[in-house]
Amino acid sequence: MATFKAIRIDKGDPGQTVALTDFDEADLMDGDVTVRVEWSTLNYKDGLALTGKAPVVRRWPMIPGIDFAGTVEASSHPAWKPGDQVILNGWGVGETHLGAYAEKCRVKGDWLIALPAGMSGREAMAIGTAGYTAMLAVMALERYGVRPEQGPVIVTGAAGGLGSVAVALLSRAGFEVLASTGRPQEADYLRSLGASEIVERAELSNPARPLGRERWAGGVDTVGSHTLANVLSMTRYGGAVAACGLAGGMDLPTTVAPFILRGVSLLGIDSVMCPKPKREEAWRRLASELDRAKLAAMTREIGLDDVIAAGRDIVEGRVRGRIVVKIG
Ligand code: NDP
Repeated sequence: MATFKAIRIDKGDPGQTVALTDFDEADLMDGDVTVRVEWSTLNYKDGLALTGKAPVVRRWPMIPGIDFAGTVEASSHPAWKPGDQVILNGWGVGETHLGAYAEKCRVKGDWLIALPAGMSGREAMAIGTAGYTAMLAVMALERYGVRPEQGPVIVTGAAGGLGSVAVALLSRAGFEVLASTGRPQEADYLRSLGASEIVERAELSNPARPLGRERWAGGVDTVGSHTLANVLSMTRYGGAVAACGLAGGMDLPTTVAPFILRGVSLLGIDSVMCPKPKREEAWRRLASELDRAKLAAMTREIGLDDVIAAGRDIVEGRVRGRIVVKIG
């Protein structure tokens, strides 16, 4: 029996059990490409899956982990051959399909993209789904027409993974970046990523007025709920906000006022089912536009045996920046 190391979630009664175990290779799910996973990462959604705090996992047993970088071991897919270096984000991996916290993963070749030129697998996973989603948000704001000369942009949940990458990317693009955080002790860190001003989380976490003072031309929101409602109510005439996350809640207690009185737009960002050409564009741009020194400064490395504890930390808002997971 061939086995490999993996984190395994089983349905319990009540709740779930989660442990680092030896997983039988024969129990891998169908797919036309088998990958030796070298790096993964910890995203907020992984924390939700590991702790069972939200119903991310839809199949048991499950190997969590929504993204990986690795090397193709076997393939019957025309695009991939053994030795190719690939990355994967989303597509239900770690939710409905056995995931990335494992030495081996079998997936559909259509879900994979090539590791961008000039980027290591470790760097790709230091960016991870959180960072790739930050780039999707930046691309959405650009497509909408939000430009630096129109005024500052705000990033909420700024000291988290998605937020940290968004701050770095927007500042590189020439924006004045306001970073909203509940951790004032991370102000110097956020300034080092390119933030020019810190906005206290508490300023945005109470119920929003229909319209507030016009403070920013756009934003990247990772928090949802009252925070997103406040960000919308303070967005300047004609601006746009990219909604990426729900770290503060899934609800959106707002009114139509920002939309119909200020022409503000809400741009939805999804990384999981994002079509391949847009993914490839996002990764190409990350390879050239994300400052590697800033990426290194926001990244901490852990091993597979640290992932379960780190999952608790991320859902409790204790993780700064990004966590990359060395597999094997
Ligand atoms: P992190 O935990 O790294 O970042 C989230 C940040 O949100 C925290 O660091 C904290 O920032 C802030 N925060 C946490 N709890 C609260 C709260 N109760 N109220 C207000 N702010 C809070 O997670 P990620 O960066 O990995 O993900 C961020 C969000 O984006 C998650 O909701 C995730 O599910 C979502 N996401 C969505 C994707 C998509 O496809 N749309 C893809 C990837 C992520 P600070 O301490 O600075 O205040």
